Amino acid sequence: MPAYKIIDHTYDVVVVGAGGAGLRATMGMGQAGFRTACITKVFPTRSHTVAAQGGIGAALGNMADDNWKWHMYDTVKGSDWLGDQDAIEYMCREAVPAVHELEHFGVPFSRTPEGKIYQRPFGGHMSNYGEKPVQRACAAADRTGHAILHTLYQQCLKHSCQFFVEYFALDLIMDDDGSCRGVMAWNLDDGTLHRFRAHQVVLATGGYGRAYFSCTSAHTCTGDGHGLVARAGLPLQDMEFVQFHPTGIYGSGCLITEGARGEGGYLTNSAGERFMERYAPTAKDLASRDVVSRAMTVEIREGRGVGKENDHIFLHLEHLGAETLDLRLPGISETAKIFAGVDVTREPIPVLPTVHYNMGGIPTNIHGEVLRPTQANPDATVPGLMAIGEAACVSVHGANRLGTNSLLDIVVFGRAAAVRTAETLKPASSHKSLPKGAGEQAVARFDRLRNANGSLTTSEIRLTMQKTMQNDAAVFRTAKTLAEGVEKMNEVAASLSQIKTNDRSTVWNSDLVEALELENLMDCAQATIVSAEARHESRGAHAHEDYPERDDTTWLKHTLAWVEDGKVRLDYRPVHTYTLTDEVEYIKPQKRVY
Ligand SMILES: Cc1cc2nc3c(=O)[nH]c(=O)nc-3n(C[C@H](O)[C@H](O)[C@H](O)COP(=O)(O)OP(=O)(O)OC[C@H]3O[C@@H](n4cnc5c(N)ncnc54)[C@H](O)[C@@H]3O)c2cc1C
Repeated sequence: MPAYKIIDHTYDVVVVGAGGAGLRATMGMGQAGFRTACITKVFPTRSHTVAAQGGIGAALGNMADDNWKWHMYDTVKGSDWLGDQDAIEYMCREAVPAVHELEHFGVPFSRTPEGKIYQRPFGGHMSNYGEKPVQRACAAADRTGHAILHTLYQQCLKHSCQFFVEYFALDLIMDDDGSCRGVMAWNLDDGTLHRFRAHQVVLATGGYGRAYFSCTSAHTCTGDGHGLVARAGLPLQDMEFVQFHPTGIYGSGCLITEGARGEGGYLTNSAGERFMERYAPTAKDLASRDVVSRAMTVEIREGRGVGKENDHIFLHLEHLGAETLDLRLPGISETAKIFAGVDVTREPIPVLPTVHYNMGGIPTNIHGEVLRPTQANPDATVPGLMAIGEAACVSVHGANRLGTNSLLDIVVFGRAAAVRTAETLKPASSHKSLPKGAGEQAVARFDRLRNANGSLTTSEIRLTMQKTMQNDAAVFRTAKTLAEGVEKMNEVAASLSQIKTNDRSTVWNSDLVEALELENLMDCAQATIVSAEARHESRGAHAHEDYPERDDTTWLKHTLAWVEDGKVRLDYRPVHTYTLTDEVEYIKPQKRVY
């Protein structure tokens, strides 16, 4: 292996990722006096958080009575009881101060005539324990993520945090005692390799939507943090729970926010029927995402889809009028024009359920500390390692996330990570020397892929993986498709040994970036499909046609998946069936009524 020059850095804290989660953590660490570095493969304000449209959930009660306990109830119900209720209590309670904090940081929220933060309805958010929809989504028009991300970036600059922009994190540096000591990264711009030593590494690398063929997430959502953790011998949790958003634009997958239905939009089939009334008589078009996605899929499968091939559904906004569309939904009006050629003031938008969010991820507790569960202690932690945001599984979303709860998750747990670090670490504490050969494995992997000379290109292997996931780990799942999918995914993963890269340079080598990302995606894809095949019940986003009922006796537990040498090993850990404080009681599993 040729010798690579390695540049060393030492920080109190290194945050990997500059989306909403990474920036909130970076800012908090800076505020607490830690020397903090934030490593990101794209410029911070290009992170996928920028694309979030609809809003951030918090029971502010600006439009009608609301209460964080109702928010908690809805979130538990949405999670189909797989969520950990201590974490859900923490998030929903903290939501109110978190949004006020964002307002004070300068997020330009839309306003009510009285000047309060504007809130819109969103699927699954109800008042008074499920009675009727409530307006809980705090919105900055339909560009909420954009507003939050830019504001947080400015706050980070104010606190003098250091950014390493267009640096690609390769692997964690783990010590023999199981603790995390830092991270290896590659500077895309000049090709140098870097070893970051830190007391605390925080993974905020986002989701892995790109394991699928059609998704709403950015091309950069490749589960890199998941891959880092898997290669460090740690498990991923609840990976079988993948959320499909009902309204991706037919063909391109671009998202039309649920806020569109929040503002009064509705779906119709080929008969012009508002079919959601049949599937969810109360919540109708605003039923939770899994319910709407499945209803749409059933309509299409039973021949009531629209279009030449009867293979999609219409979303109507034209009745809302040009003025409301311009005021409340300007971004999606533009998206529909560009990606579907549709003028939303006149015609419906063709839509289809599309992969949107990963409920599963790196298991953590409510402080963001990563877990290394054992039989004796299912909540044991990894010293020096945290994970937050979509990369993590706290688990507040359980089997299905409610809309607006992810922007909330990223700011609440981004903050929690900084608060915890301030409790457990002193700024500028001295560092132990790194273990011998720290980072060598990462360099060897980098070198192997850089010189890979097999017979299959990255894009060929990636396409087979994405098609397999799209077909065999989709909205509806059967024992047969899942078993076939596992077989196929094992073959696809094995084909990684045949990978070929063409570009041997180290400067802006996007060929190599994509190969590194593909290895990370592959771990995610395999963990997802193997975990899905094993779960013999239907819960939240995991709808198993051969096991249509939820089975709390056997399956009220979190799946753990270790990906080792291209094979997945599973185990389980208990769901937390308790709350954080005695202000709320544990919400017992109920039959779901829509
Ligand atoms: C189109 C769309 C609309 C959405 N709308 C909403 C909404 O209205 N409300 C809501 O609550 N949720 C919404 N969501 C979900 C929500 O936006 C995301 O879950 C959330 O923003 C994820 O934030 P994050 O900080 O965890 O990750 P991201 O914003 O994805 O950021 C990931 C960061 O990690 C960095 N990174 C990744 N890998 C590496 C690596 N190897 N090395 C260095 N850096 C790396 C990237 O550079 C990036 O900075 C939406 C999602 C999508 C896709």
